[in-house]
Amino acid sequence: MTIELAGLYKHLHANPELAYAERETAALAAKHARELGYEVTEGVGGTGVVALLRNGPGPVVLLRADMDALPVHEETGLGYASTRPGLMHACGHDMHVTWLLGALEELAEHAPGWNGTVMAVFQPAEENGGGAQAMVDDGLFERFPMPSVALGQHLVNLPAGTVGYRAGNFMAASDAVRVKLFGRGGHGSRPETTVDPVVMAAATVLRLQTIVAREIGPLDTAVVTVGSMHAGSAANIIAPDAELLLSVRSFNPAVREAVLASIERIVKAEALASGAPVEPQIVREGGYPVLHNDSAATAKTVAALGRALGTRNVIERQPVMGSEDFGNFGRAAGVPSCFWFVGGCDPQAFAAAAVTGRLDIDIPSNHSPHFAPVLEPTLRTGVDTMVAAARAWLADGNPAS
Ligand code: ZN
Ligand code: ZN
Repeated sequence: MTIELAGLYKHLHANPELAYAERETAALAAKHARELGYEVTEGVGGTGVVALLRNGPGPVVLLRADMDALPVHEETGLGYASTRPGLMHACGHDMHVTWLLGALEELAEHAPGWNGTVMAVFQPAEENGGGAQAMVDDGLFERFPMPSVALGQHLVNLPAGTVGYRAGNFMAASDAVRVKLFGRGGHGSRPETTVDPVVMAAATVLRLQTIVAREIGPLDTAVVTVGSMHAGSAANIIAPDAELLLSVRSFNPAVREAVLASIERIVKAEALASGAPVEPQIVREGGYPVLHNDSAATAKTVAALGRALGTRNVIERQPVMGSEDFGNFGRAAGVPSCFWFVGGCDPQAFAAAAVTGRLDIDIPSNHSPHFAPVLEPTLRTGVDTMVAAARAWLADGNPAS
C-alpha cells in the first residue's frame, strides 16, 4: 500500500467538513486517486470528485463514497478526535472515503487481473444536502461513462468484520416538512388579546402523533418526527408565530402520500381550531427516495462479499427507517444498484451489550457524539468488501468484446 490508510482516516476524522464544504477532503481524494493513475475530475456537483480507471473493454462499475460530516460536537475523547468544534464525522463518511481510496489502490495494483472501467464517485452532501442528485444534475452520466451497476457501503454499529445486507427495499424514503404557524403576539399577562402560537404548536405536535398510531395500517410502516420546534423569546411575551420541522419516513408511496396529506390536514385544522388569523405555511423541503437493492445485483454482490469475509460474516438484515441518497445513482442511470452496511463496533463490546440487552444504550449509533468505530478490522473489512464487490462485476465482463 502506498496510501497509509489508518493515518489518512485519522486525518479525515480530525478535520471534518460540512455538506458542500468538503474541499480539503475532496482535494485529498483527488490527489491520491491521481497518484494511483486514475483520471480525476473535481468539482462535480459542487465538491464531488470522479476518478476513472479505464482498463480495456468491459463493464463500468460505479463505486461510491460520501464525504460530508455533521454539526455534532465530538465527545469520543479519541486522540484523533475532531479539531473543529461543533463538527464531527459522526456518520463514518471519513471511513467511506478511506475505504474507497484503499479499494482504488488495490484495483489499480491488480489491473492485469480484470477488464472494464472503475468509476469512483466521491459524493458531497449526503446528510440532507442531496449531493447524489447534484452530481447527476451536473452531468455525471453524460460527462463520464454510463455504469453497468452502482455499488456503495455504509459504516454502522454492527460488529466489525461483519456486513449487513438486504435485497429489495433496504432504507426508507425521507421527506422534510417545514411548518409555520401564525398567531397574534402580545403581552404574556393578556392571553385573551392574542392567538398563542405556542399552544397551537403544542396541540399540533400531539395530534401529528396520531397519524402513525391511528391512520396508518398496523402492517404498514411510517415515522413522523417533529425534530425542531421554535417560538418565542421571553417569558412575558406571547410570540406571533411558531415553526416546526418534521421528518417523515416511509417505504410505500401510497403510505407516504397519505402521511403527507394528513400532516397538511392536521396543521390546517389545528390552526383553524386556535383561531389563527392566517393559514399556516406548509413547505416540503425535499427528501430521499427509498433505497432499493436490485435482487439479482444483490445476490451477485453478496456472494462476492461472502467469499471475501466468510458467509457467516455476511448477514441479512431487516429494512431500516434511516435514509440515504445512494439510490439516486442507480435510479438516474437506469441500472441496478446494491448498498450494504459494514460493521465498525468492537465485536466483544457488541456481544456483551447484546447479552445484557443494552445494545441501544452501550453501543453509540451513527450521529452520536460518541460514535467511534474501532480502526481494525473495520478499515480492512471495508476495503476488502469494496474490492470484492467491484471485482465480481468487473470479472463478469466480456473483455474480448
Ligand atoms: Zn448520517
Ligand atoms: Zn451516512
